[in-house]
Amino acid sequence: MSRFWNARTRELAPYIPGEQPRQRAYIKLNTNENPYPPSPATLQAIARAAGEGLRLYPDPVCRELREAVAERWGVKPEQVFAGNGSDEVLAFAFAAFFETEPDAAARRGGAVLFPDITYSFYPVYARLWGVPYECPRLQDDFSIDHASFLTRCGGVVFPNPNAPTGIALPREHVLAIARYHAEQGAVVIVDEAYVDFARSADGAGGNVPLSVIDSIKDHLNLLVVRTLSKSTSLAGLRIGFAVGNEELIEGLCRVRDSFNSYPVDRLALAGAAAAVRDAAYYEETTRKIISTRERTAAALVEKGYTALPSSANFLFIRHPILTGAEFRIRLREAGILVRHFNAEGGVSRIADFVRVSIGTDTDMDAFLAACAKEAV
Ligand SMILES: *Cc1c(COP(=O)(O)O)cnc(C)c1O
Repeated sequence: MSRFWNARTRELAPYIPGEQPRQRAYIKLNTNENPYPPSPATLQAIARAAGEGLRLYPDPVCRELREAVAERWGVKPEQVFAGNGSDEVLAFAFAAFFETEPDAAARRGGAVLFPDITYSFYPVYARLWGVPYECPRLQDDFSIDHASFLTRCGGVVFPNPNAPTGIALPREHVLAIARYHAEQGAVVIVDEAYVDFARSADGAGGNVPLSVIDSIKDHLNLLVVRTLSKSTSLAGLRIGFAVGNEELIEGLCRVRDSFNSYPVDRLALAGAAAAVRDAAYYEETTRKIISTRERTAAALVEKGYTALPSSANFLFIRHPILTGAEFRIRLREAGILVRHFNAEGGVSRIADFVRVSIGTDTDMDAFLAACAKEAV
């Protein structure tokens, strides 16, 4: 605490990101980064942008990137917003669409809803802006109970697939939530950070895409948020975007332009547009990660571990006897970093789980060898 901090800063409970070790001695499976490099075309575009042009401000409205996104996903550029990572896009969305003032929140339907076990940045944004929120409980199998979001409220936000469980909510349930809240004008934000790793809506290898980007024209209150940090190997470039109807996008622009007119720099704009146009490359690396994930999950279950059914680029797993905290420390000693979520007060349904990002096959073989040593 400092006497220089205002009341709001004193009240903040900031998000704690996974460790980024300074030496590269660790196998890093703790922050869901992609183990494969960005495509050659992406890197060439960034190199071309790294020149004399950097003395100029970037395009404040990110036109080229928004056009690339619009073309790839079959929407209009006016239905796309780009930001400095999807974390920034989410922060702007909380500020733009969720009420803070108690009377206004009550008129709109009350608190904003997100699951009790989910991306831990949501409560941080809610507290930053002063948005009241409530957290419906995940079911005992750690899936989202979509019916718990079919109740009058000030807005909804959840990742699909959910984090850190990796479990996907079927498309029709996502759309049922959006439909339920449309009339009241409550915004439903679907954070599709991991959607490219989902096998299918039914989880059985079918081919119904899980993403609901194609439904934004039917649901004017639906905002889909995506990132290039996971399936597109660009966590270091910081690019996220949102797709939604023009009024939602304009709301995000109003917040951005009251904060920073140029959150996306020239290198990021060039690299992101090239990456979005290079879908074939990233689809191939995504396929590799899915197959490594399936093989890793099967090997863990064979060793007596519990692994939740993952549609993401990570596994949420429980050691047969060790607590999550102990297991994380043992793996660290073996040179492998994974993420353990410390519950407030130490009691939580996920205290015995750790989240393991999917690396290369070589990374996962080393991980499985360490797990064999830790098994009973
Ligand atoms: C990683 C992640 C993000 C953040 O992505 P950036 O674009 O890197 O800011 C957002 N939501 C969820 C659920 C994530 O896991």
